[in-house]
Order: sequence, then structure tokens, then C-alpha cells
Amino acid sequence: MHYLKKELEELEGEGLFRDLRLLDGPQEAKVIIGKKQLINLCSNNYLGLSNNEQLKKAAIGAVKEYGVGSGASRLICGNMLLHKKLEERIARFKKTESALVFNSGYSANLGVITSLVGKGDAVFSDRLNHASIVDAALLSGAEFKRYPHRDMEKLETLLKCSSNFRRRLIVSDSVFSMDGDLAPLLQLVSLAKKYDSLLYIDEAHATGVLGKKGRGALEYFGVEENDFIIQMGTLSKAIGSFGAYVCGVKTLIDYLINRARAFIYTTALPVCVCASSIAALDIIEGDCLLRDKLREKIKFFRDNLRSFGFSVSNDPTPIIPLLIGDAGRAMEFSRRLFEEGVFVQGIRPPTVPKGSSRLRITIMATHEEKDLCYASGRIANVAKGMGLI
Ligand SMILES: *Cc1c(COP(=O)(O)O)cnc(C)c1O
Repeated sequence: MHYLKKELEELEGEGLFRDLRLLDGPQEAKVIIGKKQLINLCSNNYLGLSNNEQLKKAAIGAVKEYGVGSGASRLICGNMLLHKKLEERIARFKKTESALVFNSGYSANLGVITSLVGKGDAVFSDRLNHASIVDAALLSGAEFKRYPHRDMEKLETLLKCSSNFRRRLIVSDSVFSMDGDLAPLLQLVSLAKKYDSLLYIDEAHATGVLGKKGRGALEYFGVEENDFIIQMGTLSKAIGSFGAYVCGVKTLIDYLINRARAFIYTTALPVCVCASSIAALDIIEGDCLLRDKLREKIKFFRDNLRSFGFSVSNDPTPIIPLLIGDAGRAMEFSRRLFEEGVFVQGIRPPTVPKGSSRLRITIMATHEEKDLCYASGRIANVAKGMGLI
């Protein structure tokens, strides 16, 4: 173990050592950590659904009726009624022919990308795509071509000399998880069409948040369903539950059931989790109350930070990065805020590129305005103290 210990000490020296924070009580807009109450500014539970009464009731009901474990993989005997109901519910929500549930967003990306492309194919991936996409592309064995963040000219240059590949797959987050900006989806769609490529869109941070009905960024941009577009999203963030979905045409779903190893070789999700996801989709599609609240709070907080002199974009997403640069300084910022009752994690390499360590602030529909005011005031204070603004 001594060489592991040495490596950890090296990490510590670079300000890159990570450890776990323990939350007492539920995942909410305010959380308890070590008997201290803090305003939670780093959860992906954007709509505050993860501790919602309807979601809890649905899970409890499903446990009573079906138990906890699902006993086997979907293809053996683990395929239960609520898996099917959830997939039908997702397809209806996303207006696609079909949908398939995976056990997490990480395994969905792994499963789909590695089954769609392999040796002789090429993956075109935004440089700031989520780590699970990077891992999937590397594991697939396809040529991995990364283009600079949102750079459609560079992407087209790469696509232009890609005719020797059997299949082409363009992959992008729709909302970038650490920057909160949007992919240029309309251009991605037209490039995919022009260069006969599949387009895989990860809607992890857009599902339930963007679009009139909360269907995601494709809805936000008005992109029609098309058989070369593959949509993926998680059920673990704004949906407040767990797992992930892939949706598109039925042929795609049949293919994944036969080919995606991350779907085939794993035990099916507990159905209580599926019951909660269905309840969340009913809430999200049922009315826009939570979404409107979230939108208001996002605007409020972005404006607030700007008024203190931070450079903050107008993106319609709940993810607001405050760039610091140095990893140690980002962690110092986070520590000082913690002392003031504001919980924001620092984000360091390899999650973000070297020299772009940051605080990643996330807003929830259930944040109270007075708490957001307090938090932005503290953030500004600490930033001033550290000479950042
Ligand atoms: C969180 C995230 C994932 C992984 O989803 P999990 O359900 O947490 O495994 C995948 N892609 C993106 C863009 C994400 O932000």
C-alpha cells in the first residue's frame, strides 16, 4: 500500500486530494453537515424533488407491492412492470418512439457509445463533455476526435476528412456539467445530417429544467425528433430519483437491448426507484410551477452575482461556475464559505481542465430568496478577501 499512500500525498501536495462530506438528513436546499446548517449551493437536485412527498409515496408503495431488489438483469427475469411503465412514460414525455432505462447516466453513456461504435468508426466529442463520455469513447475502440469547446468550425473540419470511417458519432452534453453553458444544438444537428453522422445528446442537466415542458435542451431549441438523433438523460438530477434513459426510434432501443453490455450485464434497477421517476415526470409534465420558480431563482442569483462584479453569463441553466484557476485557492474559497454557512464544492482537475479550478454553484427551485441573498453576499465578501473581485 505504500506506493498508494505516496500517490495520495502527492495529490495532497497539489491541492487535489479529495474526501467525502457527510450529510445528515435529506437532500434539500439547506443541509446539515456536522450539526451545522448550510445553504446548499452544489446539488443537482434542481427542482427539489429528491425529498418530495409524492416521489417518496410512490417509492414506498412500490416497495410494499414489489419488494426492493429486482433479482436479475432485465434480460433474465428482472424485467418488472414498473420498468416497462417508466420506459413508456419517458417515451411519452420525450415524444420519441421508444425509451430504455439504464442504471445510471454513467452506464448509459458507456453502454450506448460502446455498442454504437467500435474499431473503424470515429467519435467526435466536445472537449468539455462529461467524463463518462470520454471513458465510453476510449473503451469503444473508435478513433476519438475531440474538438475545442463548442467550436463548430473545427468540428466540421474534422468531419470533412472522415469519409474513410465506417460510422461517425457526434457526442455532446446539451448543458455542460461544469460550465452550465449550452451546446449549439441546431448546428450540431445540421452537421450530423450533412456528414451522415449519428448525433448523441446527453441531457443530464437539461432534463426537467429546459424547454416549455421540461423535456430538455432539444425542446428548448425546437429540434424535431429524427432517427439519427439519440437522446440520453439522467433521472438522478432534476428528476430527483435515480437511473438514466436513452430514447429514440424503436430500432435503436432493440439494438441496445441486444448490444449494450452496460444494460445486459447488470441487475435491473429496484422498481421503487422507477416508481419515483414516474411520479417526478408526472409533476414535471403536469405543470410548470417548479420550472418557473427555478428559472426565477437562476436569473435572480446570476444578476445578484453580477452586481457584485463577478463575470457571470446569462445562460438559462442552474449551473454557475466561478472560475478561480488554482486548485488550492478554489478549495480555500470553498472552505471559507463553509465557515459562513454556504456549501459550494470546489471543482478541480481532472474534472475540469488544469488551471480552471472553480466553484460550481447550482441553483434549486426550492432555494429561498433571502438565503440566495445571504449566500451571494458571503460569496462576494470571501472573494474580496481573497482578491478575486
Ligand atoms: C451526472 C452526469 C452523468 C452521469 O449520470 P449519473 O446518473 O450520475 O451516473 C452523465 N453525463 C452528464 C453530462 C452528467 O452531468
